[in-house]
Amino acid sequence: MYRQPGSICMLRYRRLGPVTFAMPVRVVDDGSDLTMLYLAAGTPMKARAMPDGTPVPRDLPYLERQKLPIAIANRVWTTNDVLILARPGEAHDVRLFRDAATGAFRGWYVNLQDPLRRVGVGFDTVDHVLDIFVEPDGRWRWKDEDEFAAACSIGRFSEQEANAIRAEGERVIAGIEAEGWPFGAGYEHWRPDPAWNIPSLPHNWDHDDDTYS
Ligand code: MG
Repeated sequence: MYRQPGSICMLRYRRLGPVTFAMPVRVVDDGSDLTMLYLAAGTPMKARAMPDGTPVPRDLPYLERQKLPIAIANRVWTTNDVLILARPGEAHDVRLFRDAATGAFRGWYVNLQDPLRRVGVGFDTVDHVLDIFVEPDGRWRWKDEDEFAAACSIGRFSEQEANAIRAEGERVIAGIEAEGWPFGAGYEHWRPDPAWNIPSLPHNWDHDDDTYS
């Protein structure tokens, strides 16, 4: 059931229909308490795009983005090497960002999302729009609160779901302030195996039942 350390699988985002965001990641560790994945700068991936395949402009408002027909294009993950820590059943993961050029630790990114679901090619989740960013010195801030409000306004989340998402974030913030796991655990000193190459995007990145190949 668990994936072998050193193997490669997909981490994918999907909501109602097709996979809209997919990247191959290296399995650092996988077990009953924790799944650790590594996303290296330079990794080819699939991402939501404008209908003509160009990147979605960062400043395009959330509600405008939602009106676009779904298009998916090839992209490359750049800039940061990312260690992803996800515990089973928790509605978030914690990502440690390290500058790929300098090796400097950039901070923790808490991505609020559905608990990871195991599929043939790897793991699927659903993004919850709201995030938290934690500076290396422990100062934290909510991220994308405006987008979250916009998502709630069009019924992407019910009031009950929105409350649960925010409550999950509040629990994480309590952990940040107490330096609870994983914030005081030294993961910023973790380094990937130098023998690991950059994974390629498998042909079956959007299949459900296949294994990564
Ligand atoms: Mg997010």
